[in-house]
Formats: sequence, structure tokens, C-alpha cells
Amino acid sequence: MDKIWTTSELINWGKNFFVSKNISEPRLNFEFLLCKVLNCNRIDLYLKYDYPFKPNQLSELKELINRRAKFEPLQYILGEVEFYGNKFISDKRALIPRPETELLVIQSKEIISQINKPKTRVLEVGVGTGCVSISLAKLFPAAEFYGIDISQDAIDLAFENKELHKVENIKFKKADFFEFSTFSYFDLIISNPPYIPKEQYSKNNLQEELFFEPKIALTDDADGLVFYRKFAEIIKLSTQKMQLILEINEFTSDSIVELFKIDNVATTKIKDFNNLDRILIIEKK
Ligand code: GLN
Repeated sequence: MDKIWTTSELINWGKNFFVSKNISEPRLNFEFLLCKVLNCNRIDLYLKYDYPFKPNQLSELKELINRRAKFEPLQYILGEVEFYGNKFISDKRALIPRPETELLVIQSKEIISQINKPKTRVLEVGVGTGCVSISLAKLFPAAEFYGIDISQDAIDLAFENKELHKVENIKFKKADFFEFSTFSYFDLIISNPPYIPKEQYSKNNLQEELFFEPKIALTDDADGLVFYRKFAEIIKLSTQKMQLILEINEFTSDSIVELFKIDNVATTKIKDFNNLDRILIIEKK
């Protein structure tokens, strides 16, 4: 007879297995996989310490363990992630929402509250899962949100997340930022563009998990500044008041700020919770 495995035995075994595979936070990762199989919260695992896993649950768990051992991100395996207090569907179609990017929501929230208009119009460039625009659309039901992404996969996922959150005041559309032209329609443009320089996007420099995410969401395949140059051109050509809120790379933040040294344009740099440059607010007076 095959051995019967209980939750506590599995946790002990799994933690060691993930240690041997160099998975960071091995116990936590393993517990989340158990939760997925048992369809419960982490806190409930402790009430199920002696629960004997059924053969079908063990084989499901085995599959999840193998995926994680190959460095597939936990969020993709679980299929969801929490961002700004809301759950979002997350899979390989788009970048995983990051805690740092919550700062983009926090800063945008502040600025949208200050824009004194009955219907503020916000454009998001590169929506990915849609987590930023959807979080904001929930906070500002009277504002109008428009999100573009070059990837149809990302747009499909953003749409699924929009349905999940039942927000009406947002439109997602597949479009290429570099061909887009109606920027002047918007009061505010927000973005977390791909900002890893080409030479840094290599297995030696970055965590294995990153290579499961869409490459176009992470690197511009150039110097990491391509999107910011375009944003600088947009604000330079704008004949009206306009604000941009952009996530930035801590390693290239000085070069990014340099691009926005333009007449009548003010910039404010904001650090994240690790004290790294993370957000740039750009304002055309
Ligand atoms: N913050 C991401 C990372 O370094 C990069 C996201 C991006 O390129 N915008 O993992």
C-alpha cells in the first residue's frame, strides 16, 4: 500500500525539497501549493495538520510541486495575486502585479483627487493584467479609464479581470503606444513600461522566475529608456496641462529624469518601501 501523507508530513517534506531546489521562501511556497489543492486559506492548514491526502490530491500536488521546482512563479501556479487589496487573475499572458506597482495606484489616486473635473480621463499604457487601472476605476467611478497594451493576450486577461471586478468605467484595447496618437484627450497618463535594459535581461542577472513572464513586458530590448523617450516627446508636444505618472527602474532613474528636463515641465521622484527610486511624476504646467 502506498504511504498515507498528512498535511504536516507533507509540509516537512516539501520544505526540504524546495530548499534543495533553491526555491526562495520554501515553506511558504509549499504551503500555498497545499492550499491550492485543499482549496483553503493558509491559516486553515494548521487546523488540517493531520488531514490524510487522497491519491488524486497527491497527484495534483505533485504536478504543482514540479512546476514550482522548475521556477514557474507561484502566482502563475495559483492563478491569482493580491494587488492593492483586490484579487486579480494572473497567468503567463501578462506580467505579475508587483507590490511596488501599488505605489503607482497610490500616487495616481492622489493626483486624480486633485484634478478638478467632473470626468477625469486617464490613459494607461501597457495594462498587463489591468490591475492598476481596475484598482483606480474602482476608486473613481466617475472618471473615465482607457487602457492599451500591444499584447492581445494581456488585453484578454485585463478584460477578464475587469469582468471579475465588475467595473464599467474602463475600456481596454489592443494598441501600439508608438502608433497611438490621441494623447491630448487625456488629463493623466500612467504607465509601468518595460524598463529592464537589454544587457541586464539575462539569466545571470535576474531571478529564474522572471523568464516565465512575457519578455515584452520587462525589457524594451534596448537601453531601458525607449518608452520614457516617447513619454518625454508626448509631454513636450502637449499644448495643454498634462500629467504623467510612471514607474521607473531604480538603476536608470537619473537618465530617465534627464529626459524630462523640458521647459514648463516639473518632475518629482518618489521612492518605494525599499528606498529605491520607483515613481516619477511629470507635470506640464
Ligand atoms: N519591476 C519589474 C522587475 O524588475 C520590472 C517591471 C518593468 O519592467 N516595468 O521585476
